[in-house]
Amino acid sequence: MGISSDDIASVRAATDIVAVISEHLQLKRVGRRWQGLCPFHSEKSGSFSVNAEEKLYYCFGCGAKGDVITFVREIEHLDFVGAVEKLAARAGVALHYTDEGEDEGRKRRKALLGAVARAVDWYHERLLSAPDAAPARGYLRSRGLTGDDVRAYKVGWAPEGWDTLARALRLPDDVFVDAGLGFLNSRKRPTDAFRGRVLFPIYDVTGDAVGFGGRIMPGETGPKYKNSVDSSIYNKSNLLYGLNWAKADIVRADEAIVCEGYTDVIGFAKAGVPRAVATCGTALTEQHVQRLRSFARRLVLAFDADAAGQNAADRVYAWERAHDLDVAVAALPGGIDPADLAQTDPEGLAAAVANAKPFLKFRLDRVLDAARLDTPEQRARAAEAALAVIAEHPSELVRDQYLLEVAARCRVDPERLRASAAAPPTRVVSGRANAQARGRVEATGVVTRPRQRRDNAETEALRLLLARPDDIGPTLHPALFADPVVAAAYEAVVSTTSLAAAVDHLDEQGDADSSAASDLLQRLAVEDSDAPAHEVLGLLVVGAATRALAAMQAEVRTADDPLRLSSDIAWISLRVDEARSDSAKETATAELLGWLTGHPEEEG
Ligand SMILES: [Zn+2]
Repeated sequence: MGISSDDIASVRAATDIVAVISEHLQLKRVGRRWQGLCPFHSEKSGSFSVNAEEKLYYCFGCGAKGDVITFVREIEHLDFVGAVEKLAARAGVALHYTDEGEDEGRKRRKALLGAVARAVDWYHERLLSAPDAAPARGYLRSRGLTGDDVRAYKVGWAPEGWDTLARALRLPDDVFVDAGLGFLNSRKRPTDAFRGRVLFPIYDVTGDAVGFGGRIMPGETGPKYKNSVDSSIYNKSNLLYGLNWAKADIVRADEAIVCEGYTDVIGFAKAGVPRAVATCGTALTEQHVQRLRSFARRLVLAFDADAAGQNAADRVYAWERAHDLDVAVAALPGGIDPADLAQTDPEGLAAAVANAKPFLKFRLDRVLDAARLDTPEQRARAAEAALAVIAEHPSELVRDQYLLEVAARCRVDPERLRASAAAPPTRVVSGRANAQARGRVEATGVVTRPRQRRDNAETEALRLLLARPDDIGPTLHPALFADPVVAAAYEAVVSTTSLAAAVDHLDEQGDADSSAASDLLQRLAVEDSDAPAHEVLGLLVVGAATRALAAMQAEVRTADDPLRLSSDIAWISLRVDEARSDSAKETATAELLGWLTGHPEEEG
């Protein structure tokens, strides 16, 4: 694996799993555990649980589970060593490698991120000091960015010229190309990807720069924005510019603002609303939405969300349903983008977010505000146009409330409007239904629900052992467990020094029972138990004694000397009866326990 096991243990011990997971989703304390929405499957209720003391997580919805290293691996698509390195850097633990051959993919990623980081610094330095960057500095000032802003966001300038960056960095060709910094021209010469553009470095959610968004200078020809091409480190359909800075405030406010431009994100932060993100040269995708949903329940769109028309509306309603989120539209004064408003009227920008309208309300107002309502004919036409917008919404209750609003504004009889809404005019319903069905499949298609073991006294005892070891630990014994999976889990817990070690031990065994036991432990670790220890123990003891009794009775039936066991049988059945009664329960349980644990294990 490459890293010494002592170092891995130190990284686990030094890391606060709740803090790490909270960088990716909102966790709430529930009793002794933490809960949140699972980042690995789409869900509406928090099935994702974290045990801070044992440093383990478990999802009751999709079965995702593991320790903090597994979490970082899965959420950031890193390999084991990459995840340990990331956590080690975070916790300040120095790592020692056990072999020279570091994993190639990991080294590659490191090399590419290193190349992008050098490019960020070089472009940034160019912007701050190069004479040819003066117009770019002027442009940024005109957009309201101060020198401090430029430094905080590491804004850069890509000079004109074909290979200025390539010559400055002198990276190996393959690194230069794979990091998205440029390409090889027809004569195999490295050529810069960005020329004559203001560059906004784009960071992933953990703060590593992975690419750039380049804006052309006003008046120049060419596309307004040009972004890094997709690569192993840059994936535009799930990257969100600004998420690394905004995520804390998004969680705090339970709301994320989605805007279109890099300067809009910066403008929101400067206006005191530091929870805006922007897509990087694409429309908002389901992956973006899902990513934001794991931080907050409400999305505020701060761009002209209506421009894409009905298709956009269909997608928004499908997301609202599939991901149980509210989508609202910021009430921006017509035509002004957030970056400009942040300069001229920062309070107005904050208010536009605070007064954001539900998506359907926004679309409806747009239709009705544009309509003339002077004559009965005009009002009837407006009502019909409004009905068509309302018909897009999948909820009948929501549709009906807006219908009443339309009736009032257009002075139409609500009953008549309901009658005409019942026969929708132009709407093709199947298209929407398909889109929603697709959304659900995409959202849940990869998820297989784990088959969960039915809980019984044995699993309850194990749960208690993990939650309150002092209450039940000293009295438990292998003879009390009949279920091979629970027995394996119990053995692993008592023969190792930590839950993580027990899980590792079971995972190393590789057989079906051990892997089921590992799964069981990781689930139980995030659950609380309020069961009284003596009752759980009583059930376990009666269960084990009953099994022993049955085994002895079977033996008696085939034995040469039936009397040999008869006194034992009589004694045990009497104690079992007492242990089930109220009067002599405790003594009988204690006696049975003594007999069972002192007893050679013959019931197997
Ligand atoms: Zn899950």
